[in-house]
Amino acid sequence: MARAQQNPTFSHPMALIVHKYGGTSMGSTERIGNVAKRVAKWARAGHQMVVVPSAMSGETNRLLALAKELAPAKPTADYSRELDMLAATGEQASSALLAIALQAEGLGSVSYAGWQVPIRTNSAYTKARIESIDDKRVRADLAKGKVVIVTGFQGMDEHGNITTLGRGGSDTSAVAVAAAMKAKECLIYTDVDGVYTTDPRVVPEARRLRTVSFEEMLEMASLGSKVLQIRSVEFAGKYRVPLRVLSSFTPWDIPIDEEAGSGTLITFEEDENMEQAIVSGIAFNRDEAKISVLGVPDTPGIAYQILGPIAEANIDVDVIIQNLSKDGKTDFSFTVHRNDYARAIDLLREQVMHRLGSKDIVGDAKICKVSIVGIGMRSHVGVASRMFRVLSEEGINIQMISTSEIKTSVVIDEKYMELAVRALHKAFDLDQVPADTLSQS
Ligand code: ADP
Ligand code: ASP
Ligand code: MG
Repeated sequence: MARAQQNPTFSHPMALIVHKYGGTSMGSTERIGNVAKRVAKWARAGHQMVVVPSAMSGETNRLLALAKELAPAKPTADYSRELDMLAATGEQASSALLAIALQAEGLGSVSYAGWQVPIRTNSAYTKARIESIDDKRVRADLAKGKVVIVTGFQGMDEHGNITTLGRGGSDTSAVAVAAAMKAKECLIYTDVDGVYTTDPRVVPEARRLRTVSFEEMLEMASLGSKVLQIRSVEFAGKYRVPLRVLSSFTPWDIPIDEEAGSGTLITFEEDENMEQAIVSGIAFNRDEAKISVLGVPDTPGIAYQILGPIAEANIDVDVIIQNLSKDGKTDFSFTVHRNDYARAIDLLREQVMHRLGSKDIVGDAKICKVSIVGIGMRSHVGVASRMFRVLSEEGINIQMISTSEIKTSVVIDEKYMELAVRALHKAFDLDQVPADTLSQS
């Protein structure tokens, strides 16, 4: 990959830069003040700045918990439109506060809600997808020398309803704005100083990756590494947005070039001369639940008859396993998001169980999925079996397995998650080899 991309220089004036600040980075008025000082530093260096903030930390959870207090456990009505009206206020507040802080710093600044830009999305409330962004208004303000704040996490559908993009969606807002405006770089400021070999909260020995390939980042995000929302990585890939994850907790006044070269850069081109680690990272996800349909006939079409109604109810299915059949009967298991668990079981009991003559539907919400990820897995055999050996040495039972070219995932009992992640991290030498050499030319 081009060296210029690894060591960007930002001393050339008038680049358009997008900054995104997460909830912890925006977590108090003092922190918002620091964000304003950092953004002002970039603006005073001559850059056109668009800033996408998340809600202050805890605010989205607080708002959604209020709704839960009022809604019955098994709602008959669909509240999702109102949930989006509600949750979107978190980002509206933080954006306005940041604009005020920037004005207090002596800079011209204006904040816009998603619908004011507008950022247009489809109507899938609580998990809407961005369809287009009109950048006229933002560009006009930038041309007047203003710093423009665009709320993260939200947009507007074709009927003028406010929508939100799914938890962690401000990352996606930032990358989408950067893509639409052809920004020089999109910098995702967060509470860690980059993308690590695994979540440093779970494995303190985890190491920061100076670069990570787009494909690995996509897998890690989809397998549970919450440092970037998966759709933000998809956008970055589709539009080749230069994307970097870095800390918002460095002193705000460090030199811009030092700041711009810190953190983790997502790279798009593979360097063939690069020394490639076999496994670059470990991801885990506690958000899934397992469902088993017991004693169904082992005949063609069975998977469709079970999963068809699940798909029609808009429930995503992840890992699937069908056991060996005995006397023409088999057990069929799959995982869904925990939020969909109760609904999926109800639906199977109502629509599938009797029709297929199933003995019972059983479930387990106390599972987790642990995955090893690395483009080096393409060219090495035996990586999955090494993973299985490590888990067996720890006495951890594997319930389900799923693989792709650059990842292997296992579903295990939730209570062994940290043990499994730590053991794998050590076994694949992720705490010993300086991560900097993993995918660094
Ligand atoms: P923000 O509010 O800035 O969007 P998030 O909480 O969404 O921040 O994401 C940052 C968090 O992601 C970190 O605090 C860390 O605990 C977690 N995380 C999970 N996996 C990783 C990883 N591989 N590298 C870095 N952070 C990770
Ligand atoms: N505030 C939203 C959330 O908590 C979006 C984000 O932070 O990215 O999920
Ligand atoms: Mg986030």
